[in-house]
Amino acid sequence: MILDMFKLDEKVAIVTGSNTGLGQGIAIALAEAGAKVVGVSRRPSDETQKIIGEDKFFNIVADLSSKECIPSIIEGALERYGRIDILVNNAGIIRRQDAIEFSEEYWDEVMNTNLKTLFFLSQAAAKEFIKNGGGKIINVASMLSFQGGIRVPSYTSSKSAVKGLTMALCNEWAKYNINVNAIAPGYMSTNNTEALRADEKRSSEILGRIPAGRWGTQKDIMGAAVLLASPAGDYINGYTIAVDGGWLAR
Ligand code: NAP
Repeated sequence: MILDMFKLDEKVAIVTGSNTGLGQGIAIALAEAGAKVVGVSRRPSDETQKIIGEDKFFNIVADLSSKECIPSIIEGALERYGRIDILVNNAGIIRRQDAIEFSEEYWDEVMNTNLKTLFFLSQAAAKEFIKNGGGKIINVASMLSFQGGIRVPSYTSSKSAVKGLTMALCNEWAKYNINVNAIAPGYMSTNNTEALRADEKRSSEILGRIPAGRWGTQKDIMGAAVLLASPAGDYINGYTIAVDGGWLAR
């Protein structure tokens, strides 16, 4: 039955940035589909744990701005649930400054969290997936994987690279039954876009350009996450799916 293909019973998923926003939504969605979730977050994911329940959610507190925490994330997940089947690289940051003045600090912060740690965590998870006979990696990309953006040069660079890396890893790991895909959210109402939404001019410009006529929400990303994490998505590989209310179609 087709709905059975979306089930994640017996699967274990790591979701980074699980305390809030899209990562929290993805963690809830995977758990509702049947998975046990290891949420990785810089601030504790207490709210997410309360929503999902302690038996199906385990929080590892880690700072993903450096790759040093990766072994403890993998070991922690294995110790708690015994296997890893799904990795969602959701944690990400944005820094806004005119390109002409953009600082090295802003460049490194964004590239380290959004790209470097994402790659090395994927590499560590893929080693586990190979032992298990396969797995799923879902990266969270952006509209700025397709477009240039304004005043966010390191963010655009990191998210464009995430789309490229998604294809590169698919090419090398599909033979191990590993799917590497990405979700590119449009303009979603989370902490990440708080500054944009507070700027009346930018906010109304953005809203006026979204065919759906509204900002996206946590809920809007849930279906794509379950599709890409589940057997229903087994033949989708190397692709970045936009969940954007039609933004890219405009
Ligand atoms: P958010 O509410 O700001 O969430 C970002 C998440 O990443 C938070 O859980 C944050 O933890 C975590 N994080 C950031 N730096 C971290 C670090 N060094 N170590 C551990 N965790 C870290 O924004 P969001 O919109 O849900 O963002 C989720 C992803 O979607 C990001 O990759 C973002 O770039 C992407 N995205 C968002 C939009 C949008 O419109 N909202 C559009 C396209 C793409 P803390 O809460 O502790 O900071």
